[in-house]
Amino acid sequence: MGDEGGIVALADAVSELFYAIAGWLLVGLGALALVAAVSGLVAGGGVGSAMGVALLVVFGLVFVVSGVLVNPRLRRRLDRRHSITRFGRVRSTDRRVVRPGETRGESCVECGADVEGGMATRYREEYALAGIPISTRTEGVNHYCLACAFDESDIPDESSARERPESAPERS
Ligand SMILES: [Zn+2]
Repeated sequence: MGDEGGIVALADAVSELFYAIAGWLLVGLGALALVAAVSGLVAGGGVGSAMGVALLVVFGLVFVVSGVLVNPRLRRRLDRRHSITRFGRVRSTDRRVVRPGETRGESCVECGADVEGGMATRYREEYALAGIPISTRTEGVNHYCLACAFDESDIPDESSARERPESAPERS
């Protein structure tokens, strides 16, 4: 059972790697086509080459877009995207329930007790362009014990996390 899980995880990792390579190849190919199109435009080969340039641009864009969609890491980034009007720093948090046995000696950030079941909030501060996360500045997980998790008022949600930036440690 445990071995099977390991093999499946390995297969997943390998296929993700292949998709990533294929994705970057497509992006590189598309970028090459776009560069060729631009240099063709600069060289200025007359009306006949305008068709060629347009074709290169279309192929380049198709390659780049499909490369991004195929790449698991870039796709996850797209899944995480914020509103298209967001530029600059974006803070986000999400919460999930932690079951007993899932924790590895974490302690509650509110009261310091060992967490054996409770809640985990993941916070992230990213730099976004048009809502797409470009780089992650800080990322981390806070654990809360059951007692503190029930006392929801203490747990920062997205709006109050924005007002308490000092509670987030620098980088993880
Ligand atoms: Zn607690």
